[in-house]
Amino acid sequence: MTGLMKGAMQSHKHLVLLGAGHAHVHLLAQATRQSFNGARVTLVAPFARQLYSGMVPGFVAGHYALDDCVIALAPLLEKNGIRWLQQSVTALDAQKRRLRLDDGTDLAYDWLSVNTGPVQDRQLLETSLPGVREHGLFVRPIEAFCHLWPQVLALAAQRTLRLAVIGGGAAGLELVMAVRQRLPTASVTLIAGEAGLGTNYPDGVQQRLRSALKARRITVLNERATALHAGEIELGNGARLLCDVPLVATGAQAPAWLQGSDLALDAQGFIAVDACLRSTNHPEVLAAGDVSARQDRPLARSGVYAVRAGPALARNLEALVAGQPLREHQPPIHTLNLLSCGDQHAIATWGKFSAQGRWVWWFKDWIDRSFVQRFRRH
Ligand SMILES: Cc1cc2nc3c(=O)[nH]c(=O)nc-3n(C[C@H](O)[C@H](O)[C@H](O)COP(=O)(O)OP(=O)(O)OC[C@H]3O[C@@H](n4cnc5c(N)ncnc54)[C@H](O)[C@@H]3O)c2cc1C
Repeated sequence: MTGLMKGAMQSHKHLVLLGAGHAHVHLLAQATRQSFNGARVTLVAPFARQLYSGMVPGFVAGHYALDDCVIALAPLLEKNGIRWLQQSVTALDAQKRRLRLDDGTDLAYDWLSVNTGPVQDRQLLETSLPGVREHGLFVRPIEAFCHLWPQVLALAAQRTLRLAVIGGGAAGLELVMAVRQRLPTASVTLIAGEAGLGTNYPDGVQQRLRSALKARRITVLNERATALHAGEIELGNGARLLCDVPLVATGAQAPAWLQGSDLALDAQGFIAVDACLRSTNHPEVLAAGDVSARQDRPLARSGVYAVRAGPALARNLEALVAGQPLREHQPPIHTLNLLSCGDQHAIATWGKFSAQGRWVWWFKDWIDRSFVQRFRRH
C-alpha cells in the first residue's frame, strides 16, 4: 500500500493533543504535515502560548519581561496544519474515546496524547487550608499567576507589603527569593511546613538554601499554615502571621477530570503509563510530563523530565498512528537541577553534588533563554 493510499484511508482518524505542555511543544516544533500519516490533528489548550515555568521566578524578580518567557503556539500549529481549540478539558470518557470541553461540547478522538501538567486543586486544598480559595494567590495556572503578579507590584508601590510564600519545595524557594529581589523593603516569610525546606534536596543543598534565605533576610517558619484569613495566616503552633499576600506554592495535584475517566491512575490520581508512555489500560492513550506516572520507574515531577519526554512522545505517537511498535523512553537517573536565588545567583544540584554562584545563574539563564528561543525559530 502506498503512503498516499494509507494516508487517505486514515484521513478520517483523529489524533487529539491535550495541553500544550513541554512535551507537546517539542512535538509541535518537530512535526511536519506528514508526521501523522494523514490523520487529523487537534490541539486542545486554553492559552495561545505556553509560559515557560523555569523562567517565572526570573519574571517575578524582574529579570525578564513576560514576553521573554513565552512560547507562542500559532506559528508551530500553522506550519503543521494542526487545528487549535482554545478550550480546557473538563471530563474524559476513555471507553467512548470522548472529551468534554469547557464550552460543554464533546470531542471524539481515535488517539489521545495528554500533556496537561498538574493542577493546584483548590477544592482539595481548601479542606486542609481553609480560606485558601478566597485569600490565596496560587502559582498554578502559571498564566493566571503571571497575570496577577503585576497587581501585587502595584499594591507594593502604594505601601510596604507583608508577603508569605507557603511551600518549601523548589518552586516556593525560588519564588520567595525572587519576591525578595523584586520587593527589597517588603517583609518576606517562607512558611516551609513542619518537614522544613527543600526536603527533596541532599543535606548539603539544604544547608546552602538556609544560608541563601538568611542572607536575603527571609524569615523561615518550619510550621504548617492551617488557615488563611483576610490579612493573616494561622499557623500550626497557634501563632498568627500578618500577611497581605499569601502566595500558595504547596505542590501540585492530579487534575480532578481524570477521576472517572476509566484511565488507570496511580495512587495520587496521575495517569499510569508504561515505559513507552502509553496508558496501562488504554493503548490508544499516551501521556507525558507531570500529569503522568511511570509504573516501571517513578520519576520526580519536573519540567526537565517533561522536556526530556518530548522526543519520545513524538516518536511513539507517530508509531501509534502508523500502527507500528512503540519504543521505550529511558530518561536519565539524575538531571541537573538549577535553583535561582533571586539576585542572579543560583544553586546547581547533580545527584549528591552541588555548587553555587553567579556563574550558575548565567548558565541557567542561557539554558532557559535558549529553550524558549528554539521554538521561535520555527
Ligand atoms: C514557579 C515555578 C517554577 C518552576 N521551575 C522549574 C524549573 O526551573 N525546572 C523544572 O524542571 N521544573 C520547574 N517547575 C516545575 C514545572 O513547572 C513542572 O514540572 C512542569 O511545568 C511540568 O510540565 P508539563 O509539560 O507536564 O506541564 P505544564 O508545563 O504544566 O503544561 C501544561 C499545559 O497544559 C495546559 N492545560 C492545563 N490544564 C488543561 C486542561 N484541562 N485542558 C487543556 N489544557 C490544559 C496548560 O495551559 C499548559 O499549557 C517550576 C514550577 C513552578 C510553579
